[in-house]
Amino acid sequence: MPLRAPSRGAAVEVVDTVDGFRHALDGARAAGRSVGLVPTMGALHAGHASLIERAAHECDLVAVTVFVNPLQFGPGEDLAAYPRELEADCAVAAATGAHLVFAPPVQEMYPPDDPIGTTVTVGALSETLEGAARPGHLAGVATVVAKLFAVAGPCRAYFGEKDYQQLLVVRKMARDLGFPVGVVACPTVRDHDGLALSSRNAYLDGRQRQAAAVLHRALSRGVDVVNAGERRPQPVTAAMAATIASEPMAELGYAAAVDARDLTVPERLSGPVRLLVAARIGATRLIDNVGMTA
Ligand code: AMP
Repeated sequence: MPLRAPSRGAAVEVVDTVDGFRHALDGARAAGRSVGLVPTMGALHAGHASLIERAAHECDLVAVTVFVNPLQFGPGEDLAAYPRELEADCAVAAATGAHLVFAPPVQEMYPPDDPIGTTVTVGALSETLEGAARPGHLAGVATVVAKLFAVAGPCRAYFGEKDYQQLLVVRKMARDLGFPVGVVACPTVRDHDGLALSSRNAYLDGRQRQAAAVLHRALSRGVDVVNAGERRPQPVTAAMAATIASEPMAELGYAAAVDARDLTVPERLSGPVRLLVAARIGATRLIDNVGMTA
C-alpha cells in the first residue's frame, strides 16, 4: 500500500484500554495499513514531534503512547511531579500527523489485583551509565516497552538518540525476545544553545536553564578533544568533566566516552564512539550524548 500523506491537524482518537489499543492497531493492519509506534511519557515537545513526524512519513497509521511509567522511577525520583498534560499532548500529536493516542491509566497497564510478576532486564547494556546511576530504571523501561510492543503487534517503533542507552536497550530487548518491531533511531532535537529538549527542562528556572547548556558544551569539548587526535577515553572524559565543573550550578553525574555499539570503554577510541554526560542542575537531573567516528 502506498504511503499516505499524514493528515496534520485532524483530531486524534484517544484510547485508554489495552484491548482497545490492540484492536485499533490489529484493525489498521487488517486493512493493509502499516503501523508506526511512538512511545512517550507525554509533556510532548519538539523532540517528540520529530519522532511523530518521521513515523507519519514512513507509516500509514501512527500511534503515540502517553504513559508515565511508575516502573522506571526510583524511590525519591520525580514520578509524582512529572508533567501530565494529555490535552496539550493530543494537540501536538494531531498537529504532527498522529492518528491515535494510547493513554492508559496506571491500573490499566499494571492491574492492582494482578500485580506484575514479569520484568525484563537486558544484561550488560543496562548495568553501566544510567543503569548504575538509576538502579532498576532501564529494567522498568524495557518492561513497559516490551508490554507496549506485545500489545501493539508488528510495527516500526521510533525512539530518540537523546536517550541513547535506552535506545540500545530497547533494540537489544526487541531482538532477544523476537518482537516483530523495527526500532528506528531519531536524532536529538536541541534548543538554540544546544540544550537537548526534554520534558524535565520545564523544572528549570531562568538561571538554571542558562546553566543547563553546559551539558552540550561539555559534549562539544569532548568531540574537539577526539578530533584533535586523543584516542584514550580518560582524557576525553576528563575534558568533559572539567567543562561541567566550570559551571557552578552544575553537579556532574558522569562523563563517558564509549564504543557506540555496546557502551563498553575501549582502551583506545576507534570507529563509532558515543560521548555521554549526566549532570544535576539544581534538583533536575539531565542527560545528553553525541555520536562521532574516531
Ligand atoms: P520521554 O517522553 O522522555 O520518555 O521520551 C519519549 C521518546 O522521545 C524517547 O524515545 C526519547 O528518546 C525521545 N526524545 C526525548 N527528547 C528528545 C529530543 N530532544 N530529541 C529527540 N527525541 C527525543
